[in-house]
Amino acid sequence: MSGCIFCRIAAGEIPAQVVKRGNGILAFTDQNPQAPTHLLIIPTMHIGSLNDAKDTKLLGELLSFARALAEEKGIATRGYRVVLNTNPDGGQTVFHLHLHLLGGRPMTWPPG
Ligand code: AMP
Ligand code: ZN
Repeated sequence: MSGCIFCRIAAGEIPAQVVKRGNGILAFTDQNPQAPTHLLIIPTMHIGSLNDAKDTKLLGELLSFARALAEEKGIATRGYRVVLNTNPDGGQTVFHLHLHLLGGRPMTWPPG
């Protein structure tokens, strides 16, 4: 997907602050952070949204990756939030599957 911004980050064509690489998974800092820790976790292959994600093993690995990152960033014990916006009503603006890992401050509920 040559026009996809997250595919281009995964390919190294657009700079990003990469914080962790895994097997087919990449994490980098969000350019518009909403919390002291705000990371994005993506599969390196293009998947448009959760609706298009057929690989349940990959979905589990993405969550596991987020948990490991929370540990590494020191936010696991106090707590953190993993967000997966899907399609317009879900607030998705980049149509390449990604998890948000947010932490470093108390979160509020419900989300907007
Ligand atoms: P969503 O609204 O769930 O699709 O989230 C997309 C996120 O991607 C937003 O939080 C943006 O700030 C972030 N974002 C968009 N472009 C970039 C980029 N080039 N580098 C880092 N984060 C980005
Ligand atoms: Zn993509």
